[in-house]
Amino acid sequence: MEAGPKPASGVTALAFGWVNLFYSDPTDSVSYELRRKAFTYHHALLRDQPVLFGDIRLGSLIWRNSADETEAVVLQQQQAGTAVELIDRKKLGQLEPHLARLPDVAAYVPDDIALNPIAFTSALAKAAASQGASLLFDQTVIDLVTANGRVTGVRTATASYAADAVVIAGGQGTAELVHAFVPDLGLSTSPTILFNFAAERQAIGRIVCCPNIEVRQIADGTVLAAKGYIDDRPENVPDVFGERLKTSIEMYFPKLGPLKLRSANVGRRPMLKSGMPYIGPVAALDGLHIAVGHPGVILAPLAGKIMTEILLSGH
Ligand SMILES: Cc1cc2nc3c(=O)[nH]c(=O)nc-3n(C[C@H](O)[C@H](O)[C@H](O)COP(=O)(O)OP(=O)(O)OC[C@H]3O[C@@H](n4cnc5c(N)ncnc54)[C@H](O)[C@@H]3O)c2cc1C
Repeated sequence: MEAGPKPASGVTALAFGWVNLFYSDPTDSVSYELRRKAFTYHHALLRDQPVLFGDIRLGSLIWRNSADETEAVVLQQQQAGTAVELIDRKKLGQLEPHLARLPDVAAYVPDDIALNPIAFTSALAKAAASQGASLLFDQTVIDLVTANGRVTGVRTATASYAADAVVIAGGQGTAELVHAFVPDLGLSTSPTILFNFAAERQAIGRIVCCPNIEVRQIADGTVLAAKGYIDDRPENVPDVFGERLKTSIEMYFPKLGPLKLRSANVGRRPMLKSGMPYIGPVAALDGLHIAVGHPGVILAPLAGKIMTEILLSGH
């Protein structure tokens, strides 16, 4: 059941679409292991059901402010088990021939996936429907229906739906729906911006992420860029920041031609205080489950798999 008119009606529509292990925290073994499983599962799906992924690009190139910093982070990720290579300026130039400003060294992650989160979500929903799932759009769940300490369904403004089990995967809307049973979910949102630029030419092959830009290009030439965390400072107003970002991207990739900012949208990423996602049953109410957390696009297929296994096992 989805409040919006179609799949990916929430913040997923504004995700950058980067599936990576590199930005996991190798010092936190539980979180790293979950992320590794999620990353591996994306690749298993990509191998077995490539149609779900549509038009993707593989590989990312990352560098920090100094060669020392880049080397340190690559070593740390390699020691944790991430498949990443430290490459020199020459190899970077071969991989991204239109990159005009090259650092001395960069991290090259050949298996990172850049996908379209809207198309991916729609394909997953379509695949579920083809296996017998009913997808109900424009249906806002306003409450859970319970009886004898068990969830027995959900309610919208106009109807009730019976269910043996309920999974709340409502992004930032999750907290309100489960509040009576999980008052301390600790869900908040962190604002980030997705920029969409029109470019004159193809020039960016892989995801490129360095101190000034996080950018990728798609088949129709559109350049997408994300700005990690934003606050209320005037220079962070999306349009103001977008103009500055445009200049930076043009500097790194002059072959793109002058960019034109089409849109700059703030998305609010649902995050739990613990830093870990919540994927599983709610102790206070039999049959109720939650699937929410960051980074949602990376975790989504694994979260779906975990939830399916839980539901099928009857726990
Ligand atoms: C700029 C930007 C870049 C990002 N880049 C990445 C990235 O590269 N990789 C990554 O993994 N993540 C990325 N993220 C984070 C990612 O977008 C989120 O983690 C993820 O989309 C969260 O998915 P979700 O399904 O939990 O939430 P949502 O996408 O918000 O989905 C929740 C859905 O539940 C529906 N809903 C809510 N309440 C109700 C209700 N009461 N009844 C019925 N339906 C309801 C909503 O309409 C919505 O469609 C990025 C986010 C932003 C903003």
